Amino acid sequence: MRHTIFLVLFAIAPLLYAQENYPQDIFQSPLEIPLVLAGTFGELRSNHFHSGIDIKTQQREGLRVLSIADGTITRIKVSHWGYGKALYIAHPNGYTSVYGHLQKFSPEIEAYVKKAQYAKQSYEVELFPDYGEIKVSKGETIAFSGNTGGSAGPHLHFEIRSSVSEKPTNPLLYGYEVRDATDPTLVSLYGYPLSDGAQINKSGEKIQLNYSRQADGSFLAEKVTAIGTIGFGINTFDRQDMAANKNGVYAVKQTVNGRVYSEFDFETFSFGETRYINTLIDYAHFYKHRQRVQKLFKEPFNHLGIYKTLYNNGEIDIEEGLSYNVELTISDIAGNTTKLVIPVEGKREPLKIPKDEGKTENFILADKPNNFDLGAAKVYFPANTFYEDFYIRLEKGSDTVAIHDNSVAAHRNFTISFDPTKYNEEERKQLFIAHLDEDYRPSHSKTYKRDGAFTTRTRTLGTYTLVRDSVAPEIRPKNFKEKQWLSNYNYLSMVITDDLSGIDTYSATLNGEWILMEYEPKTNTLTYDFDDERVKATENELKLTVTDNVGNSTTYTTTFFRN
Ligand SMILES: [Zn+2]
Repeated sequence: MRHTIFLVLFAIAPLLYAQENYPQDIFQSPLEIPLVLAGTFGELRSNHFHSGIDIKTQQREGLRVLSIADGTITRIKVSHWGYGKALYIAHPNGYTSVYGHLQKFSPEIEAYVKKAQYAKQSYEVELFPDYGEIKVSKGETIAFSGNTGGSAGPHLHFEIRSSVSEKPTNPLLYGYEVRDATDPTLVSLYGYPLSDGAQINKSGEKIQLNYSRQADGSFLAEKVTAIGTIGFGINTFDRQDMAANKNGVYAVKQTVNGRVYSEFDFETFSFGETRYINTLIDYAHFYKHRQRVQKLFKEPFNHLGIYKTLYNNGEIDIEEGLSYNVELTISDIAGNTTKLVIPVEGKREPLKIPKDEGKTENFILADKPNNFDLGAAKVYFPANTFYEDFYIRLEKGSDTVAIHDNSVAAHRNFTISFDPTKYNEEERKQLFIAHLDEDYRPSHSKTYKRDGAFTTRTRTLGTYTLVRDSVAPEIRPKNFKEKQWLSNYNYLSMVITDDLSGIDTYSATLNGEWILMEYEPKTNTLTYDFDDERVKATENELKLTVTDNVGNSTTYTTTFFRN
């Protein structure tokens, strides 16, 4: 009897996270190469958790992308940013697979998309084919891998969602093999005094804590003295085999004297909650150091559903004279773990680093609306714009307003309204609201102009001003010259740029008929594909008009020959 129990336990141990809820043998790989990851599910990204895995494509584009199972295409999206060219396939078992940053679709799907693009006269389209209209079978080539949209290098973004709830799930729960023999890496550890008067190692402020590796491979922190309610945070990453990429870990657990205080994992989450990542990470730390420290305690405004267990919201009450054994376990999905023990002694000591209240004249109560008149502009924060109450730093200028800085995260849009009355009609036309970065480089913030007020809605705190863009976009041919014979060309491409407000729209015609030009903002390139077969004459007039975000526009006309 005992033997049987042991065997069963041994058998299920390696499948720690491969839960029986997820089909293990139905889905095949979306690529014909071994799965090497540049990104994991739930990985911490800007304002969101990564909702799929990023599969490396050997620094190339054009690899065949295969449907992971029989299914029907339910959605096709082509956009300048985000997933670029993306396909969604619903499978009969209730899951939808998603493939992003594609270079192009398979010929049949490509023809379907181009028809819609020509009908709508737009490169960006979002299509919802009828159920069963475009069926695909397991292993069928549906597209070719690429680098379109918000992608920093060639790779395939791959997701598996629940078709009903649309919640993304961790693709590695479906029996895919990704080799990983490496424990997660702990980069740094921080202690947070949370309650009034709390302290850690004589500090009333967040403090970095030291630790060292033990003979058994686990880590032991130097003894911590503390009093009051405290919490911990870690910076950690995981590496799989065959790649140096620093990917996200799967699960983190914190126990105190053997009791689980907090435990979360990246089995699934919902798109509606993903922005609450800004309450999981130490946002101010990220702003300052560009490192994402995950807090092992849950803030009041954190509505994430990733927690499996919570006790006291992961916060630890430290009392004088008592000692505590805090243990952190960081796991990857392959089951490799890294353990850290933090011994804590309850002891009040004279503070060396007092708590910095960061006091200013203006205190924001997060659950109330807040209005400020900053001279050049008015700012309106609706209730619950922020996750916590804080002292906001506001600076009035004659043309510029500084609204704190991006060390505080906003969950909702707030409104900034500039008074443009000192500018004349012509100037007003060319003005837009710009966010200025630390080097005072302006970036366009969508500006609504009405009733003597220029308004923008944004979730980024920082410095804003009105900027005038009086220069129209520039257009130049990239791979051809005026009056050239292009008979052997597969593509015709042009470079379009705008110096200040940025490109809003572009539209090209060939002999007066609209033609599709694919826009790749990362390379400022517009491309016409001669396979579209819109060239019907030998001598052709191509006309391209590009407009920037304040309405300055440039038209470029050229002639080419082709037979
Ligand atoms: Zn991705």
